[in-house]
Formats: sequence, C-alpha cells, structure tokens
Amino acid sequence: MSAIPTINTDILILGSGGAGLFAALHAHQENPNLDITIAVKGLLGKSGCTRMVQGGYNVALAEGDSVERHFMDTIEGGKWLCDQDLAWTLVNTAVERIHELENELGCFFDRNPDGTVHQKAFAGQTFDRTVHKGDLTGIEIINRLAEQVWARGINRLEEHRAIELIHSKDGKSLAGVLMLNMQTGQFVLIRAKAVLLATGGGPTMYKYHTPSGDKSCDGLAMALRAGLVLRDMEMVQFHPTGLLAGPGTRMTGTVIEEGLRGAGGYLLNGNQERFMGNYDPRNERATRDIVSRSINSEIRAGRATPNGGVYIQMSHLGPENVRKLFKGMVERCADSGFDLTNDLVEVVPTAHYMMGGLVFNKDCTTDLPGLFAAGEDTGGVHGANRLGGNGVANSTVFGGIAGESMARWVASQQLSECNMDEVVASIHEHEAPLKKSSGDIEAIRDELAECMWNDVGISRTRDSLFHARQILKQLASRLNQMGVGDIQREYSNTWQDWMNLQNLILVSQAVTEAAIARENSRGAHYREDFPEPGSLEDSHYTAVRLKQGELSIENLPVQFSLVKPGETILVEV
Ligand SMILES: Cc1cc2nc3c(=O)[nH]c(=O)nc-3n(C[C@H](O)[C@H](O)[C@H](O)COP(=O)(O)OP(=O)(O)OC[C@H]3O[C@@H](n4cnc5c(N)ncnc54)[C@H](O)[C@@H]3O)c2cc1C
Repeated sequence: MSAIPTINTDILILGSGGAGLFAALHAHQENPNLDITIAVKGLLGKSGCTRMVQGGYNVALAEGDSVERHFMDTIEGGKWLCDQDLAWTLVNTAVERIHELENELGCFFDRNPDGTVHQKAFAGQTFDRTVHKGDLTGIEIINRLAEQVWARGINRLEEHRAIELIHSKDGKSLAGVLMLNMQTGQFVLIRAKAVLLATGGGPTMYKYHTPSGDKSCDGLAMALRAGLVLRDMEMVQFHPTGLLAGPGTRMTGTVIEEGLRGAGGYLLNGNQERFMGNYDPRNERATRDIVSRSINSEIRAGRATPNGGVYIQMSHLGPENVRKLFKGMVERCADSGFDLTNDLVEVVPTAHYMMGGLVFNKDCTTDLPGLFAAGEDTGGVHGANRLGGNGVANSTVFGGIAGESMARWVASQQLSECNMDEVVASIHEHEAPLKKSSGDIEAIRDELAECMWNDVGISRTRDSLFHARQILKQLASRLNQMGVGDIQREYSNTWQDWMNLQNLILVSQAVTEAAIARENSRGAHYREDFPEPGSLEDSHYTAVRLKQGELSIENLPVQFSLVKPGETILVEV
C-alpha cells in the first residue's frame, strides 16, 4: 500500500457541534500556541444538532432558582441513574458557560422587560430555567461559536469523516485517527497528542428521528471498536412531538418543540380528546418519556389520527400569541402545509437523543489515555432521561472543560507512533464494499429503521428485543456481504451510506443488548414485561463493550456520591 497522507497536530477535535467548537476555543485560550485541528464530517457551523437546538439552554440564573435545584431535577429526571459528579459539574458550570456565551461570545438571548434573561418553562423541571433565543436557540449559539473559531486560526478539515481511532504502537494510548476525506475519497491519517470525540451520538437508526443526517453514531461505533465501554445505551430518548408530515419528506420526525407544551399546548388523540391527564397529573408537562409512552398507548389503543399519531393544539392560546412566541415552529409547520396557530397538527414520538455513550470523567478524560470525550457521545450525565434544555448545556459545558484538559495534557506529551496494522486493517475493511458488486443498501436501512422502531422502541419486551437481536445480526451479515460497486470515491454518498449503516447497526446492537440486560423500567427504557423501576437504592447502569467481535454487557452499581434516593440536597427555608 502506498504511503498514506499524514497530518500532525497537537489537538484533534472530531465534530463541530457545541462540544467541538467550545473545546477548540478553550484549548486555544489555555495555550494560543497549540496546533488545533477540527475535523468534521459536515461543514463547520452547519452540521450536527447543536445548530438545531430550538427550545433552549437550562441554567439556574433566576432569583428563587439554584444549582442545587437544577441538580435535583436532573437526578430525579434521570431516575437516579446519573453519574452525580458529572450532573453536578453540568449544572454548576452551566452558569459560567451561559455568561461566557452572552458576554464573551456575543449571543443574544431573549430578555424580560426589566433586562434580565428570559427563562421559559420546560417539561420535568421545578423552575422556569430555559434560556433561549426565540425558538431557534442553536443557530445563535453555533453562529457565534463558529465566528470565534474562524477568528482564531484554528485548522479546519471539513467533509472529513473519522473512520477509526488508532492506538499507539505499544497499545497503551491513542496515537491518532484514520480519516476519510469525503471530497476526494482518500484516506488521511491524523496523528495527535490528544483527540476529542465529539461526534454527537444521535439515534438516526429509528424510523422517526430528529438528529441531523450527518450523524450515524460514528463516534460510539469507533469507541466500541477501540475496546472502550459505553454506558446506559438502552436509554434512547423519544421526543413526544415529531411532525407527521407524511411519507417521503425529511420533515417527518422533525421536532415540534417542547416549549409548546410548556406554554400550555394540548395533546389530543384521534377522537380529539385531551388524554394526558389519564396518564400523569402534570398533563402535557410530564417528562418526555411519560408523554411519549402515553402517546404510544393512545396509538396502540386505536385512538390515532389518520396518519398514525396524535394532534397538538395551540389555537386556544391565541393565534397571534402563538405566532409571536413560536415563530420558528409556526414557519416549520407552514412549510409542510399546516397552520399551527389555528389548526390541529399531527405529531408522533420521534427518536431524539441518546443518554448513553462513552464512559468519561468530569475532566473529559476516558479510559484510553489521549482520548477525551464531550457532548452527546458521552454517557452518565443524564442517566435514564435527559431534561429538555440539558443537552446543549451538556455539550457546551463539557466541550469547554475538554478543551482545557486537552491543552494541559498535551503540554507533557509527544506524538506517538501509530499502530499501522490497525490503519491498514481499517482501510482494507472500509474499501471492501468498493470491491463487491452493489446491493440494495436502502432496503437494509429501511429494515433497520423498522426493527429499531418496532422492537427496540418506546416499549420493549424480551421477545421484541430477542427478535431485534436476530434481525440485527442478519442485517450486519448482509451488509458485510454487500458492496457498493466500483463507483467513484469523490463525494460518494453511497459509500458513505454503507459506512453509516455499518456503524448504526453496531450501535443498534449495543442498544439492544443493554435493553435486554435492564430488566426494569426507568426513564426512557420501558419494558412491558418488567414495568417496575426496581429498587432505587440498588440502581445499576449497563456497561457494554466489544470483545473479540462479540458485545458483552455488565451491570455496574450507581455511586450516589452526592445524594441518595429519597434524600435531597435542597435546604428547606
Ligand atoms: C431538533 C433538535 C432540537 C434540539 N433542541 C434542544 C434544546 O432545545 N435544548 C437542548 O438542550 N438540546 C436540544 N437538542 C439536543 C442538542 O442538540 C444536543 O444535545 C447537542 O447539541 C449535541 O452537541 P454535540 O456537540 O455533542 O453534537 P452535535 O452538535 O450534533 O455535533 C456533532 C458533530 O460531529 C460531526 N460528526 C459526526 N460524525 C462524524 C465523524 N465520523 N467524523 C467527524 N465528524 C463527525 C457532525 O458533522 C457534527 O459537526 C436538540 C436536538 C435536536 C436534534
């Protein structure tokens, strides 16, 4: 094999969402002389889900609120499965980060008439603490972050896809990452002293899903292949209200944001009856898991709308008011031919977020020296359920911390020699589909989406999960035998799709195995055959890893480092 083009850098950041961009800025701030490279599958500032953030950013700012209260909401929302040190770091550092976003990076968030930052209601929280810019908060955050990154001479490799984490020759640390330049179809090896995994997870293996199309769980699949442990993988969050815009449009599944229910929107079944009160006293403001399951129950009971979902109704709040408060959502619905201000709009639960991910520490180090992780690729912060508004807080908080940690780490490191056997093996594996005749990749994608939706979706049983295990194995084997033909490598979507599917199937298998292992129901994970949550005091989390080609799973005890079930850190006054 001819020599592979190689780039050396101090810090390599994979992904340019909130986690990746914050990491770059903080690493640069810590040491402006560092060579920092952001490599991203999409375009910098235009890809990933942080840009898609609608509702906003949770942070305890207002009088009467506190980080302790935000912490308790996070722990209780996470059904006591959160890593408490990570959750505490999240809520505490969010305060510093939101000031940084406003005062240093120049984000404009909505304000009250008295000049204080406006914070809106989000489900599952005991205080209105979601900072926002209308209902399209992510665009404001990502645009300001991207401008600052551009201004600092940080290297950019756009449309560069990370393919494999490469160990050092002695196997003890990470030495670099094998990338594919998607523009040319050529492989590139990037050697780095520190690498940040910030590719943003994203449950795009489900039939209805919200995350951006560039996300195919690549980071999680690479971490598994590198022998690392993922936790809480059974915890896939379904957002209750994805738009049902009909088949054949990418608008189906996109989120109609939670603030609508927070502001008083109603959910009605196909008979146009309000039903949430039958499931939870908080009605439409119950947490996402409960609302999604309730909608699922209505659909299964035969009370679905014509297209198989339920309705959201906003008109009783006044059309002008709705238009003013939710401009982005009103326009999104209008784009698909619906009038959110006056009419009922059909919605369905949609796979939104993965609470599970790579095991990491509060300084963003991982079990593999040289590898750092932040954002939606990580697990443990949210436990069994993420509160709306805690996602972008998570990626920006830990992205910033990762940047500082990496800058400090590389000060004492040299570039390591890469294990070239791993590089060659990975190139061989990823080139294999180009050498086989083309098959029906689209069919595999559809079967994966149906299997995950039906068998590993909002409600699960042992039978459905075992069925999924079998189907996923077959899909993996069919994909392996299937090629894409001898097509051009430049901008090859078909080849990329093959790689996307390979990663999605592997991570779907991890989700399924974790769901089989958890024989109780917590947060986003609901087992019809084990509907009880089990003892909170004996809570465990699932830990999955790939060993000799097989996924193995362990249940490990949750450490209640700050507060035990039944207790609170809030002080009564
Ligand atoms: C529609 C929608 C609305 C949301 N609204 C909210 C909200 O209101 N509040 C909230 O808190 N959270 C919200 N979230 C969740 C939030 O967006 C995420 O939790 C968070 O932004 C993830 O940030 P990240 O940096 O980890 O990943 P992302 O922002 O998703 O960035 C991932 C990056 O990795 C890149 N990438 C992927 N694979 C590779 C690869 N192989 N190689 C190189 N690069 C790669 C992508 O191109 C992208 O640049 C929403 C999500 C969606 C989808």
